[in-house]
Amino acid sequence: MVPHDPLTDEQREIRDLVRTLAREHIAPRAAEIDESHEFPWDVVELFREHGLFGVFFEERYGGTGTGTLLALIAIEEVSKVCATSALILTVQELGSLGLKLAGSEEQKERLLPKLASGELLGAYALTEAGSGSDSAAMRTEARREGAAYVLNGSKRFITNAGVADLYTVFAKTDPSAGHAGISAFLVHADAPGFEVARLEPKMGISGSTTGELAFSDCRIPAGDLLGSEGEGFKIAMRILDRSRPGVAAQGLGIAQGATDYALEYAKTRETMGKPIAEHQLVAAKLADMETACEAARGLLYRFGRMVDEGAPDAELTKASAMAKLFCTDTAMWVTTEAVQILGGYGYIKEYPVERMMRDAKITQIYEGTNEIQRLVIAREMLKESRAFLPAGVG
Ligand SMILES: Cc1cc2nc3c(=O)[nH]c(=O)nc-3n(C[C@H](O)[C@H](O)[C@H](O)COP(=O)(O)OP(=O)(O)OC[C@H]3O[C@@H](n4cnc5c(N)ncnc54)[C@H](O)[C@@H]3O)c2cc1C
Repeated sequence: MVPHDPLTDEQREIRDLVRTLAREHIAPRAAEIDESHEFPWDVVELFREHGLFGVFFEERYGGTGTGTLLALIAIEEVSKVCATSALILTVQELGSLGLKLAGSEEQKERLLPKLASGELLGAYALTEAGSGSDSAAMRTEARREGAAYVLNGSKRFITNAGVADLYTVFAKTDPSAGHAGISAFLVHADAPGFEVARLEPKMGISGSTTGELAFSDCRIPAGDLLGSEGEGFKIAMRILDRSRPGVAAQGLGIAQGATDYALEYAKTRETMGKPIAEHQLVAAKLADMETACEAARGLLYRFGRMVDEGAPDAELTKASAMAKLFCTDTAMWVTTEAVQILGGYGYIKEYPVERMMRDAKITQIYEGTNEIQRLVIAREMLKESRAFLPAGVG
C-alpha cells in the first residue's frame, strides 16, 4: 500500500473503480484466460463500458485527461490480478503514442477519440525476425507511389496481432540511410495486402495475441504517414520512452499481486505448529518482497509525476528505463519467491503464483530487454557526467 497517497480526489475515484473491477470481474477470469489462450474480449468490453481506455487520453480527444501517473496506476491495479488483461491497456497506449507524439491534428481528430473509447484497438509494430534490440536493422520497406505508400516485408512478435484495428508500423523509406531512412505509418487492419501470418504460442500472458504481420504490396494512403519521412526511428524511440513505464507498471502489479497472495497463504499454512509467516526465513522473504515492490513503485510513480509536471523528453529516457528495469526485475524475483513460499502448491496451476511467475518473465524482455535498459541508463549517465566535465574534456 502507498502510505502517502499522491492522488487527487478524481484520480482516486478512478483508481478505486479500476481496483474494484479488477477484483470483482477480472480476477475470477484470470486462470481461465491463461488456460484457454483466448483473447479476453469480455475484458475489452468491460474496459469500454467503464471508459477505462480513456485514462491514456486528453479530454479534447475523448479521454479523462487525468494524466500519466493515474494511467500507470490503472495498469498496476489490473496486473495485480491478470497480466494479460493489463496488457490490453498497456498496448492501447503503446499503439496510440505515435499518433499523440507525431500525428497531424487531422490524424489525431480522426483516430484518437476512437482509441480513447476502445472502439479501435491499437498495436505497435517495430520488431522483425532479424531485428529486435537492433531495430534499425529492419528490412520492411515502404515506397511512395502517387497518393499511396506501398509496404513490403514482415513484423514479428506483435502484441494484439489479429485483434488490433490500427497498427503503428515502422518501415524503411530509404534503405540506404540506416536509422535515418525509417518512417512510421498508420496501417488499418483491413488495408489491402496486409495479413496476420501466424500467432505464437507462449510461456505466459497466454490470452494476449502475439503474431507475425505480413505486408505484400500493402497499399495505404500517403496521408497515413506519421510525421515526415525519415523521422520514424526517432518516433519509435520517443514512443518507447513513454510506453516502457507501462510495462514497468505491469511488472509492479504482478509483483504486488504475488506478494499479497503469498502473505495470505503464509498466514494460514502451518508447519511445526505455527503459520509459516511466523518462521523467520519466510517472514524475511515477505519483508524483502514488499520492500522491493515499494522501491519499484517509487521509481514508477516518479516517472508518472515527471510527465504530468511537463518534464522535457530528454529527462524521461533514463527515468523510464530505470522504472522498467527495476519494476520488471522485481516482478521476476518476487514471483519466484512467492512460488517458493507456497512450496509444492506454488508449482501447481491451481494457485495463481505459478501463472504470475510465467507472466513476469516477458516484462524483462519486451519493449527493450533489461540488458538494453542497462545500456540506455549507462549512456544517459555518461551524457550527464560529460555535462559536468570542464570544457574540452570528454
Ligand atoms: C510476447 C511478446 C510480445 C511482444 N510484443 C511486441 C510488440 O507489440 N511490438 C514490437 O515491436 N515488438 C514486440 N515484441 C518484441 C520484443 O520487443 C523483442 O523480442 C525484444 O526487444 C528483444 O528482441 P529479440 O527478441 O530480437 O532479441 P535480440 O535482440 O536478438 O536479443 C537476444 C539477447 O541478446 C541481448 N542483447 C542484444 N543486443 C545486446 C547488446 N547490444 N548488449 C547486450 N545485450 C544485448 C538481449 O538483451 C537478449 O538477451 C514482443 C515480444 C514478445 C516475446
